[in-house]
Amino acid sequence: MAFRSETSAVPPIVLNDGNVIPQLGFGVFQVPAEDVFSVVTTALEVGYRSIDTAAVYGNEEGVGRAIRESGLPRDEIYITTKLWNSEQGYDSTLRAFDASMDRLGVDYLDLYLIHWPVAAAGRFVDTFRAFQTLKSQGRVKSIGVSNFTVENLRQLMAETGEIPVVNQIELHPRLAQRELREFQDANAISTEAWSPLGQGTLLDDGTITAVAAEVQRTAAQVIIRWHLQRGTIVIPKSVTPARIAENFDVFGFELTAEQMAAIDTLDTGARIGPDPEAFTIGLID
Ligand code: NAD
Repeated sequence: MAFRSETSAVPPIVLNDGNVIPQLGFGVFQVPAEDVFSVVTTALEVGYRSIDTAAVYGNEEGVGRAIRESGLPRDEIYITTKLWNSEQGYDSTLRAFDASMDRLGVDYLDLYLIHWPVAAAGRFVDTFRAFQTLKSQGRVKSIGVSNFTVENLRQLMAETGEIPVVNQIELHPRLAQRELREFQDANAISTEAWSPLGQGTLLDDGTITAVAAEVQRTAAQVIIRWHLQRGTIVIPKSVTPARIAENFDVFGFELTAEQMAAIDTLDTGARIGPDPEAFTIGLID
């Protein structure tokens, strides 16, 4: 087997609960269930040790099988999954967690996230209380959120007395999320970027390709470096083995302060995904 087990070049990020997440992981949004086993197997062979899935992606089973069949020790792999909107609420969250764990086939989870706040439903506090129960039982090591606004984070912390370890948000050079980022830094909430490559739409941007030419790397590698050098946790996705490897090969070069600043100018605030304040898909009532 080609699985590498040497000390990884991926920097560890220490979360506010003391647990450690690899700064670079692998996302599997839109990876079809029938393909996910081979895609995750490739990612593990390349050296990724953190996999980001979600109940709603419909591919937790294949992710879990790839992890189990890799033969790598469970504690060398970091697994994140997310609770879908329709399952928010205390009891329904406990049931949804059991279902995700059955599909993943592992005996503990590293990180459980509330996928979207769906603030209008008024359930994310009860949902997070269920997360706290699961954490106290040792079934999940760390608990966090995704797509939360500053207002959502403030409410969650005030009403549960707990600071989520991460907020996983849409973040890329066109949407640098400055205000949310500052709030999270001030509150010891780690920032994790989803769609870090802008789902591929940033790869032909002239500023990015100019920096790529300067450092003799690809546009994807330049964007991933930009995230890493800003201290962001980053989870790019690809189903193509060469690109999966390319996106992991980002530790042999650095961007200068000038190159970072040039990429910073691309921030227009333009989203690719939904606005978290308006997103209620999956809400059942
Ligand atoms: P991404 O920014 O990682 O872009 C992925 C796409 O970029 C690929 O499908 C491919 O088209 C292209 N690409 C990737 N590497 C490339 C390369 N080296 N060269 C050329 N093209 C390349 O987008 P994403 O998948 O939306 O986001 C990454 C992960 O974030 C997801 O897989 C998922 O795990 C997570 N995510 C979370 C949420 C959330 O609401 N929490 C939402 C979206 C995504």
